[in-house]
Amino acid sequence: MAKYRITYDRDACIGAAACAALDPKRFEMNVDGKADLKGGKEVKPGLWVLEVDSLGEAQEAADGCPVDVIKVEEL
Ligand code: SF4
Repeated sequence: MAKYRITYDRDACIGAAACAALDPKRFEMNVDGKADLKGGKEVKPGLWVLEVDSLGEAQEAADGCPVDVIKVEEL
């Protein structure tokens, strides 16, 4: 069972790209100027979720996002 859940509110992303710089394994910039959560699933329009065993740099990405649209929680 996954140990962490990363939740990303893509609609609220302003395209600052900090997440992709801090955690390129999980976030990449899309041509539309917003970040994509790699391997994530859209659970509601604009809201993406990815459950993972290992957090990697996701907490740094969450902390680095200037509009605080990435959340990390322990399951
Ligand atoms: S750091 Fe936040 S605002 Fe910037 S691209 Fe990533 S999710 Fe979007």
